[in-house]
Parts: sequence; C-alpha cells; structure tokens
Amino acid sequence: MNSQVRYLGADSAVEGADVVLVGVPFDGTASFRPGARFGPQGIRFWSDVLETYSRSFDADLTDMKLADAGDLQVLSSDWRKASAKIKRTVENILRSGAAPILMGGEHLLTLPAVQAAAAMYPRLVVLQLDAHMDLREDYNGLKLSHATVMRRVMEIVGPDGLLQYGIRSGTREEWALSEEKGTLLNDLETLPERVGERPLYLSLDLDILDPSVMPETGAPEPGGMSFPQLHEIILACRGLNIVAGDVVEYCPYSGTGGPSGAVAAKAVRELVFLIAESKMVQNSKSKI
Ligand code: MN
Ligand code: MN
Repeated sequence: MNSQVRYLGADSAVEGADVVLVGVPFDGTASFRPGARFGPQGIRFWSDVLETYSRSFDADLTDMKLADAGDLQVLSSDWRKASAKIKRTVENILRSGAAPILMGGEHLLTLPAVQAAAAMYPRLVVLQLDAHMDLREDYNGLKLSHATVMRRVMEIVGPDGLLQYGIRSGTREEWALSEEKGTLLNDLETLPERVGERPLYLSLDLDILDPSVMPETGAPEPGGMSFPQLHEIILACRGLNIVAGDVVEYCPYSGTGGPSGAVAAKAVRELVFLIAESKMVQNSKSKI
C-alpha cells in the first residue's frame, strides 16, 4: 500500500476479500492528454465525498469484504513490465476467488487484465463502455495503444466475445469492422441475451460520459451521456456473471476543473456494488 488514502470503505485485507481494487498509474500511450497515471489517487481522494451506502443496490460498502491493494509500481515508459505486472496481479486475485477492479490509468491496461481473465474463463465476454472504438490495427505505428486495445482484446476473446456500447467516435475502418463483426450493442435490453451465462469483464472508459459531465479525461468526445444514463447501463448488468472490471481514462489535474473525481469515484463504487452482488448470486447458485 503506497497510497496515502484508501478507497472509501475498502478496509478488508486483500486476502479473503471478495472485491479487490488495484490502482494502475500507467498512461504511457496517451495520444492526446496524459495524466491518467494520477487517476487512482484522484479516485481514492474523491471517493470520500460519497456515502458507503448505495440506494440503487440497497447495499453498504462497510458490509462487504472490499480491499484496496494500492497502486501497482509501474513506469509509464515501460509497458512490457507494466503489462506483465497487471496480468500477474489479475491472475492472483482471480485465483484467490475475488473479483479485481482496476482503477486506471489509460485503457491499454485492459489488455493484460483480459489476457489473465480469459485464461481462467475461456468463454469470457468483454463489455466495453466507451466513446471510442479503440479498434485500430495500429496507432502511429504502435500496435499496443489505448487506441488499439479493443482490437487486441478481440484477438483474444474473438468477435463474439466483444460488446461495445456508447461508441460515437472512430475511423471509417473501425466502424466498418465493428459492423462486420457485430460487436456494437445498440439496445441495452438485448444485453442479457447477448451475454447469457458467460463470464463478463466490464471495461468502463469514462469518456463515454459527455465532457460536460466528465471533462477530466484523456480524449474528451462531445455528444456523450449523463451520469444517470451510465448508471442505467450498470444496473442493466445486474444478474450477469461479472468476474472483473476496470474504470479507466480519468485524468485529474488536467486544468479543466469540475468534479470529475467524484464522477470517477462514484462509477467505481457502483461497479463494486454490481460485482459484489453478482458474486453473491453466483456463489449462492453454486451452493444449490
Ligand atoms: Mn475512450
Ligand atoms: Mn477507450
């Protein structure tokens, strides 16, 4: 634990926890505005403004085994090492029977996390909530970038293992690819049938929100959704078997002002409730 503050209510030990938060302060491939490396600290700081009780889930963080494992020691200049560390960490948490939630950091961190989760759950589905396709083959010659991350993820889980929602920005080729592969989820109501019983990895790129709601992000894209709309998506995931997730691309100190930190921290909290509830349901199913 190297951070001064823990995430709200995360007072359980990592060992024996049901949900484990891990900060990943990596922003090495940021294409526009760097600074997501400060995201985990910002999220923890702002989490203090929230209540531990969620009305929507009728659940309290203090009643669950939530741990904050602190930040991974990663250098934004060394993706190879960072990637190995992320993968190992997610593997270890999944093996312990807990669900990891990574707090980014930029979106590339999803790749090693999905590698680890897919190794344990071969039929994994990744739900990408994002303004951007992130489906480029390469970005400025880079195969590994937050602009290519879902292309690489698709190579792991296959086209039917990727679902994209909230997308409003991409190249002509990215739109064509997503249409060809059928990865776009147009209607939230079809989510349960698209995922079914398959294990789900939920990847939340905060720029899915409108820049008026979430200005402090790496690549703000106008025309996005409100927080209540994002919350609806999270609630639409109730009942699914969610095994891991991440919240990425919060860039504090980017000089845009606004309470983006509270938005990011609340998104993390709702994901904690969602995943804890999902684990509870799965656990009770396996007991029957
Ligand atoms: Mn994005
Ligand atoms: Mn993204």
